[in-house]
Amino acid sequence: MENVPSRQESHSEFLRVEHLGIAVHSLEEAEPLYTRLLGVPPYKRETVETEGVVTSFFRVGPNKIELLQSLNPDGPIAKFLAQRGEGFHHVAYAVEDIRASMARLREQGFQLLSEEPRQGADDQWVCFLHPRSAGGMLIELCQHRRHDKQSG
Ligand code: ZN
Repeated sequence: MENVPSRQESHSEFLRVEHLGIAVHSLEEAEPLYTRLLGVPPYKRETVETEGVVTSFFRVGPNKIELLQSLNPDGPIAKFLAQRGEGFHHVAYAVEDIRASMARLREQGFQLLSEEPRQGADDQWVCFLHPRSAGGMLIELCQHRRHDKQSG
């Protein structure tokens, strides 16, 4: 067992894995596949124009699976599919205060893909971390807008 430095905070600012993102060529084909696999249909389909994606969400117990299809041929999902094919795209962590987490992670040398939180799918404020700075994984931070600290 390696020694893990003790934390000063009483809890992690990462609350849980919010969802796993999976890149697909076509929601028309992937939704029936995942419905057969998971045994439930998607509970929502949502377009996020600013991110260039159409998303489809499935519930799996307390967890969520997000399918992502590109809205246009040169968007980030299209580029990912061209390079790596369909499959695991990102892991999203729920945080209490996305701005605080962004500030901490920036300070710790992680490369943020936006300076400000952006409106993501499924009522979330989101920010991505570049895989180059995060062990090869694309990381998404999510703060539910119900816990909104952006306004006011
Ligand atoms: Zn996501």
